[in-house]
Amino acid sequence: MMHILLAGGGHAHALLIRELIQNPQPHIRWSCISDHNHSPYSGMLPGVIAGHYQTAELMIPLQALCERANVEFMHGSITAINAGEKNVQLSDGRNITFDVLSLALGASPLLSRSDKRLLPVKPLPDFLHALENLTPHAGADIIGGGIASVEVALALAFRWGKNAGKIRLISRNHALLPGHNARVQKMARQTLQNVGIELLLNTPVNADFNLQAQAIDCSAAAGHAALQNSDLTLEQGFIPVNDFLQNPQFPRIFAAGDNAHFLSRPLAKAGVYAVREAPILLHNLLATAQGKKLRPYQPQRYFLTLIACGGKNAIASRSWFAASGAWVWKWKNKIDQGFMRSFD
Ligand SMILES: Cc1cc2nc3c(=O)[nH]c(=O)nc-3n(C[C@H](O)[C@H](O)[C@H](O)COP(=O)(O)OP(=O)(O)OC[C@H]3O[C@@H](n4cnc5c(N)ncnc54)[C@H](O)[C@@H]3O)c2cc1C
Repeated sequence: MMHILLAGGGHAHALLIRELIQNPQPHIRWSCISDHNHSPYSGMLPGVIAGHYQTAELMIPLQALCERANVEFMHGSITAINAGEKNVQLSDGRNITFDVLSLALGASPLLSRSDKRLLPVKPLPDFLHALENLTPHAGADIIGGGIASVEVALALAFRWGKNAGKIRLISRNHALLPGHNARVQKMARQTLQNVGIELLLNTPVNADFNLQAQAIDCSAAAGHAALQNSDLTLEQGFIPVNDFLQNPQFPRIFAAGDNAHFLSRPLAKAGVYAVREAPILLHNLLATAQGKKLRPYQPQRYFLTLIACGGKNAIASRSWFAASGAWVWKWKNKIDQGFMRSFD
């Protein structure tokens, strides 16, 4: 029986496993390796920091999904990938072989890998644990100029309220939220200002930079460490994939979400792509196992981003569109809760 191995519990895999509950594929042996039995949904992280949700509410029950879908769940941390020999290595010494491999291990911020003063926002379970020990009056530096840093800074300001020390958002870029339209950027700057968050642009953080005692890394995503221990030829630290989400060097290896580098057009590291990739990934894994025709993934050019602003307000951004208010937060809340309920 063909063995399809799902490495990591990323969004594409969680959705693929959910689909297997509805449409079982019993002629295939499916298994999934993850270092956690839940897979966190980052879209709700700002709401957890702000106190609108409990931590449990952002946890996709990965192991339980696997059990319902007849996918063997293996708890373990992948440390190396031997694509040529068709196996992956786990930190406990186990070696798991596969016929077809799909990788959804995600990515994590770059700076904190070398600068140990920084607390990385990912992996989320570690961050959520560390969050409990942060001291409000000590304030915090939030590194990065994208959505994650804006959301984390505003959520922390809301969580700490009047007890908050100085919160600074520090980015090496000259603009906040690069890639978003000017109105969205202005709304975000204004929202940060309204709650007293200091914005430092054009400010690269290096070893000489004087950081506050508490600093959170939301900087650009870097490839997963396990990928460095592999015979895959990487592209900027990520797994290159063609339009079929397939690695051209090892056609029995697929990748989706943040750990993939889409060769036709580099994509932003955004969960929305991982979600849309799921049905194509499922089709192509099955097609590879069965010698059938693969289907291309066609990423959308624009997608809606809803940026949580600490309290129950949010900013909506899509191409030239910009809006903000309590109704945008309600919209985001409905989408996020609906996404999580789909795994019940
Ligand atoms: C605060 C914040 C807000 C964000 N908001 C948005 C947003 O509004 N919209 C949007 O599109 N994107 C958003 N993002 C980006 C989004 O989080 C990522 O693009 C998305 O999580 C990528 O999903 P993924 O499936 O690639 O990986 P992940 O969701 O990171 O999943 C990786 C999985 O692999 C597992 N894993 C990791 N390492 C190992 C290992 N060694 N062995 C075994 N298993 C392992 C993990 O436990 C996890 O289950 C946000 C990110 C942050 C930090």
